[in-house]
Amino acid sequence: MSARILVVDDVPANVKLLEARLSAEYFDVMTASNGTEALALASRAECDIILLDVMMPDMDGFEVCRRLKTDPATHHIPVVMVTALDSPADRNRGLEAGADDFLTKPVSDVVLIARVRSLTRLKMMTDELRMRAITSLEIGMQAPERSAVADTGRGGRILLVDDRQSSYERLATILAAEHTIDVEPNPTEALFHAAEGNYDLLIVSLDLNNFDGLRLCSQARSLERTRHVPILAIADPENSTRLLRGLEIGVNDYLLRPIDKTELLARARTQIRRRRYTDHLRDNVQNSIEMAITDALTGLHNRRYMESHLATLAEQASTRGKPLALMILDIDYFKSINDNYGHDAGDDVLREFAVRVRKSIRGIDLACRYGGEEFVIVMPETDLHVAGMVAERLRRSIAGESFAVHKGTKRIEVTISIGLTTLEQKGEAVADVLKRADTALYRAKHDGRNRVVSQAA
Ligand code: GH3
Ligand code: MG
Ligand code: MG
Repeated sequence: MSARILVVDDVPANVKLLEARLSAEYFDVMTASNGTEALALASRAECDIILLDVMMPDMDGFEVCRRLKTDPATHHIPVVMVTALDSPADRNRGLEAGADDFLTKPVSDVVLIARVRSLTRLKMMTDELRMRAITSLEIGMQAPERSAVADTGRGGRILLVDDRQSSYERLATILAAEHTIDVEPNPTEALFHAAEGNYDLLIVSLDLNNFDGLRLCSQARSLERTRHVPILAIADPENSTRLLRGLEIGVNDYLLRPIDKTELLARARTQIRRRRYTDHLRDNVQNSIEMAITDALTGLHNRRYMESHLATLAEQASTRGKPLALMILDIDYFKSINDNYGHDAGDDVLREFAVRVRKSIRGIDLACRYGGEEFVIVMPETDLHVAGMVAERLRRSIAGESFAVHKGTKRIEVTISIGLTTLEQKGEAVADVLKRADTALYRAKHDGRNRVVSQAA
């Protein structure tokens, strides 16, 4: 995991120092001595993390950060501001500009490497999701970047785990100005509470009585329901070594007491925005997976999915010694439906056909659109006799009730022909099964259509 870090500073000695430390930890380092140069490098997607000096002539670090964070091409790159003074006012300006983190000069080695490692992990995950989501962009789905850049990070759902009343009352009041906030003073209840609540952010105190807050953080990281919920840790300054440990186990950000109000709000917003962005990316990936295996018109599986899944089903049937039935269904004289009523009417028929098919089969059966008006249904653990009854029921469900087209203004009679067979012998190639079903279908057409023909192996 060799991340590439862009170090931006107008003082060459500072650049050299950070470069040496990062290179010693095997990070790839590139450098820029001003904001314009940094923006150009970042927009060419050549870096994973940016360490940005605040005080620079021409364009200062705040402005560079603001531009990075408002550009859809670069907003996802973590930015760490490197400030000479540890002043809350400076930090807040940086957070307002969208900075992900801060380092104070002189930069401590341990903190530098811990932060860069934790941000690298985060960046790798986001990159992976972005890469997969690109497919869905190509097929015209909304770009997650657009909503991410517009997201204010407000209106989140936060769970605060803290057992000191004076502390949680103050924090809850601050946060309630922008978010919905629940307080859990009992750390043993916190994990359950977090898993149930669908939160955008967990804020965990590491100074709990008789309870290790880091344990809670690590449990939240391994639990499916909370794995992707960001964690903001809060600790007394004397606990700062435990904070580093926290960053290693997946805590996303931290604050030291006494807690500055503006900084708390800004850090919460940053985490919530990031959470929404990665959620959005994840949804896109999920959608594109579904789109890749689904026929858009009918919502049934597509041919590609069927072909890969059929092999698995056949193998399972063979090893378990169970029958497997397969039928091909083809709408009769479909071309004349298009010719007489138009292509849209043809589409209406295909959609309604899929609805009736779904009603007639079991959940474990696999139905797919095999071609234009040709469908395949695969039925595990079903012999030729039972499959014949299902096929006949399907045939009647189509022929028995006319199809509404043109928004219900017209009804037309539709029939189907079905060719049916089973996988009989162990290890039979699925292509042979399909061919046998197709031959049976051909006979059904030849014998006058609107009928089922079964063909034993
Ligand atoms: P047969 O009874 O022998 O099956 O005759 P048929 O007319 O149903 O068969 P043929 O294969 O000659 O015609 C199928 C038609 O289905 C041709 C094609 O234009 C039409 N078709 C294929 N896909 C779609 C689609 O998505 N929508 C519509 N409306 N028509 C489609
Ligand atoms: Mg047809
Ligand atoms: Mg056909």
